[in-house]
Formats: sequence, C-alpha cells, structure tokens
Amino acid sequence: MDYKTNCLVCGSQLVYEEISNTVECYFCKKAYESNVKCVNGHYVCDSCHNLPANELIKQFCIASNLKDPIEMALILMRNRKLKMHGPEHHFLVPVVLLASYYNLQSDVGKKTEKIWEAEKRAKNLLGGFCGFYGACAAGVGTGVFISLITDATPLSKHEWKLSNMMTSKSLLSIANIGGPRCCKRNTFLSIIEAVNFLSENFGITMNINKNLKCEFNSLNKECLRDKCPFYYQ
Ligand SMILES: [Zn+2]
Ligand SMILES: [Zn+2]
Repeated sequence: MDYKTNCLVCGSQLVYEEISNTVECYFCKKAYESNVKCVNGHYVCDSCHNLPANELIKQFCIASNLKDPIEMALILMRNRKLKMHGPEHHFLVPVVLLASYYNLQSDVGKKTEKIWEAEKRAKNLLGGFCGFYGACAAGVGTGVFISLITDATPLSKHEWKLSNMMTSKSLLSIANIGGPRCCKRNTFLSIIEAVNFLSENFGITMNINKNLKCEFNSLNKECLRDKCPFYYQ
C-alpha cells in the first residue's frame, strides 16, 4: 500500500472523473464538490490534506463516530502526516480513547471539550520521553485520558489513584517488551491497557480488534520483529 502518493486513508489509487460530484471528506465529514476519489470511494479535502499531524488527529476524532480506538489509531497512522515515530502519538493516544469513550455515550459536546483540553496537556508530552525520562509519553497519554474522564486534579482522591494506576499499567506493559522505542507498538499497548482498565474499573466495554497486526514494520528499521506482539510478515 502506498500512502505517500495515493489515497491518504487506504493507500489505494486515486481515480479522476470528468464530472465533479458531491463528496464527503473522510476526515472532517464536510461536503465538497470534487472529481477525485480513491478506488474505495475515499475523499480527503484540501484543507485536511494540508493540516499538521495534531490538527488532523483532532479534527478526525471530533468528526468521527467510531467507537474502536485501535481502528481510529490505524486510520490516523496510515496518513502520511504521522511519522513512523514522533510526539504526535502522545496526543493520538488520549484523543482516540476520548473519542471512542464519548462516542459510546453519544456525547459529542463533552468529547469536543475534552479533546481540546487533551491538546493543551499533550503539549508537555515531548518527544524522547521514553528514553530520557523513563516514561513513554504514549503510556502517559492513557493517564491523561483517565484524568480527563474522571475530572481528576492533583487534589483528587480516587480519580488521582485511577489516573496514576492507568499510567503505571501502560508503562509496565511497554517496559516488559523492552527497547528500542517504537511509537506504533507503544501506542497499541497503551490503548489495549486503557481498554482493559475501562472494563475492570468502569464496567465499560470498548470492542477492539484483538488480532491487531502492525502495518508499519517495514518503515521501522529498529523493529523488534518477532519479539513484538504485533509483528507479522
Ligand atoms: Zn482510499
Ligand atoms: Zn476535510
């Protein structure tokens, strides 16, 4: 699949038609007149095409009604704006979780408000945290997620406990595999830990694909290959 020159959503070839039609942008869901689509019918508007990674993540998660955070992460990761590794994954983790969580409750207002707050907090989750601070920021992103849905603050009691517990579970799962870093692996591990945590502590079920296979290993020269739970050839 070639996401670099073809469809930003699925990597398939683009088809140009002589007559333009009304199409919906896959990311922002707005309607446009266009004569280009991919063979699978995806259209991405010029404005979404030109967005920086974090802005694209935000717009997609606000507009999407998906309830599977892994599916949302994969759609975003296929976009060429997201690099193989990079701090955009630290923002992606809390935002796909918030979007799925509030989409399950059909509360778009709350979802948008919390995503804006996550964006502010993610500005402090810098690149290289995993190796330099001993805390992978994709894992910390799950703590941001729990903090936001429980309205935790440094003075909270139970909410404080849950937020820190969440981060610790993600970091343990990330640490157990060992380095070097992979932003895709650590994002998947963090989201899976958050989904398990929601089920155990909140009684909320998020249905995710349990047989997740990484599509990005050929882009990662440090890939752990068969030592990574998501690796396949
Ligand atoms: Zn497509
Ligand atoms: Zn758009």
